[in-house]
Amino acid sequence: MKIIPFTLLFSLLFALSLKGQELHTLNKDLPCLDRHFNLMIHIMVDSTRNLGVDIGAIQGAVESTNEMFAPICVSFGICEVDTIWNYNFDSLPNPEEMAEKSAIFQKSNRLNVYIMSHLLDETVCGLGGGSTIHLEKGCLGAMTHEMGHVWGLAHTFEGNGTELVDGSNCETAGDGICDTPADPYDPSLENVTWQNGCEFVWLGLDANGEYYQPDMGNIMSYYGCDCGFTRGQYLKMANNIKNSSLW
Ligand SMILES: [Zn+2]
Repeated sequence: MKIIPFTLLFSLLFALSLKGQELHTLNKDLPCLDRHFNLMIHIMVDSTRNLGVDIGAIQGAVESTNEMFAPICVSFGICEVDTIWNYNFDSLPNPEEMAEKSAIFQKSNRLNVYIMSHLLDETVCGLGGGSTIHLEKGCLGAMTHEMGHVWGLAHTFEGNGTELVDGSNCETAGDGICDTPADPYDPSLENVTWQNGCEFVWLGLDANGEYYQPDMGNIMSYYGCDCGFTRGQYLKMANNIKNSSLW
């Protein structure tokens, strides 16, 4: 019997454990929830009594959302489309009018999606939270992002740079999810160039003097390079979906 030198044995074991970790990452270890949610779609007509939006385009946005939720076996489907003929609701410039509209049209225990021409001010084209999504007619592509909010995700830039690049305060700062890198984006800052296409170009530093490397493709960012959610984001959403009373 040949004796394997201790160092060789050790590196063999190390290589084997690395292999295991790689596989674990590949499979992502995500729960498969097997949940389907019915969407109650409310479309506001405009002042010319037109819908101003194509049902096929809404269906397309739902399908894109489903692709992003497939890794945790969650899907959404349009179960009912209701047309709101009072065109005053086609523009919801403030929270009071948004609440007034919901008091009339909201279906309980369902995910309600309101589609209108104008929402709040020009900085917002979609909103998500509770059991409600608002989307402007020209902003249907934000459905996946708003669905992320519905299931408890914050923006990756939550706190605008309080999260450190080294991740040491990732559980309490930023979006509270540790596999989304620190993101200094601040929508209130004007005249700042953050990106060149999907490349991050801002040269500001964090409190430790480190350069930021945000995940430009994260759906919960504002960079518009929507590629996906992280494992940590999936786990958070899955936990909230499991405990949800929506159907
Ligand atoms: Zn958002």
